[in-house]
Amino acid sequence: MIVILKPSLDRTSLEYLQTLEFLQQLPGIEVQTNTIHGCEEIITEIYLLGKTQGISKENIEALPAVLRAIKISRDYQILGRQPQMNKGFEFEYNGVIFSQNNLNIFAGLCAVDNEKHVESMMKALYENGLVCTRMGAYKPRTSPYAFQGLGKSCLPYVFEKAGKYGIKVIAMEVTHQRHIDEIYHCLTMTGNPTGVMLQIGTRNAQNFELLREVGSQQTFPVLFKRGYGITLNESIHAAEYLAHAGNRKVIFCLRGVKSLFGAPHRNMVDFAHVPVIHRLTRMPVCIDPSHSVGILERTPDGLSDIYHVCAQGIISGANMILVDFHPNPSLAVVDSRQAISIHELPWFLEDIAIAREAFEKRRALACRFAEKKAVECIA
Ligand code: PEP
Ligand code: MN
Repeated sequence: MIVILKPSLDRTSLEYLQTLEFLQQLPGIEVQTNTIHGCEEIITEIYLLGKTQGISKENIEALPAVLRAIKISRDYQILGRQPQMNKGFEFEYNGVIFSQNNLNIFAGLCAVDNEKHVESMMKALYENGLVCTRMGAYKPRTSPYAFQGLGKSCLPYVFEKAGKYGIKVIAMEVTHQRHIDEIYHCLTMTGNPTGVMLQIGTRNAQNFELLREVGSQQTFPVLFKRGYGITLNESIHAAEYLAHAGNRKVIFCLRGVKSLFGAPHRNMVDFAHVPVIHRLTRMPVCIDPSHSVGILERTPDGLSDIYHVCAQGIISGANMILVDFHPNPSLAVVDSRQAISIHELPWFLEDIAIAREAFEKRRALACRFAEKKAVECIA
């Protein structure tokens, strides 16, 4: 059962303490509290996990701090969207809002290779009005002989340059608790010039220990990439590990699935699942057109396949784009075949804006024809 408290309730108030005390004495029930700072209000949800069948919704709703109680009827107990829920999760991190209603662009280096490229990338982002990026410092690779990322040695200049160019959030993959500690330590040492979104790579989608570790910290939000060889249902269950461990600030990323039928693309593009994730869960949805497609081939009209699939995801309502750019793609040490040159950034952004506008028109149209209440349409 999910117990939603009255918005912006003081945690030291008698109403709150009495409510919590009552819930904590329910036999055989695990109580988890989670507070999210949205752009307008602070929302606290209390999860009653375990055998909740015998608990009366009316009794819970009669408690002084409770706005509403929702019986969970789906598998994904925390991240799932229950039938009575209009709203998805919305959270703010370092000044950037993440939700099922907006769109954030994370263009950047697949892997940090040197300081000069980091500087050029950050500068290009700044000049194009972007405040988020991707920069891999820890790179899990197929071969142990391949470049493994610069690790913690590059963090100080990555964070400092992000601060210099007003970058608020960097998506960065981690594969071990040590990486989270190193990121935290380096951000502190450099005076928190930026923020980090911890990325769970597709290869670690079912690394449950890592998911528990990343989920048990609340400092950083998490970008969870679906597993490339498991079902969507299994991937959502894996993301639920993050929330169950305590972190609800989770974004679900589609990045294609492994299949020879996807050729000549690197993976079979799965952006048809954008609306499915919106329907089944409350998570914002990210698309990664670079790792899905893997090549920069263009159609006769001059648009690359990466642009095309990106538009397909956005026109269905994707909330975040994770995309590989590089100041000089031929020099990129990881995934050079899919990196777009930073000179194309203005073109890419205009192309995205067209697709987003089309999505917004489609959403308004659905609102009109589906005869839904306006509040349901924007939630
Ligand atoms: C990445 O985004 O750098 C990456 C390695 O992606 P994936 O885990 O989806 O392969
Ligand atoms: Mn890559």
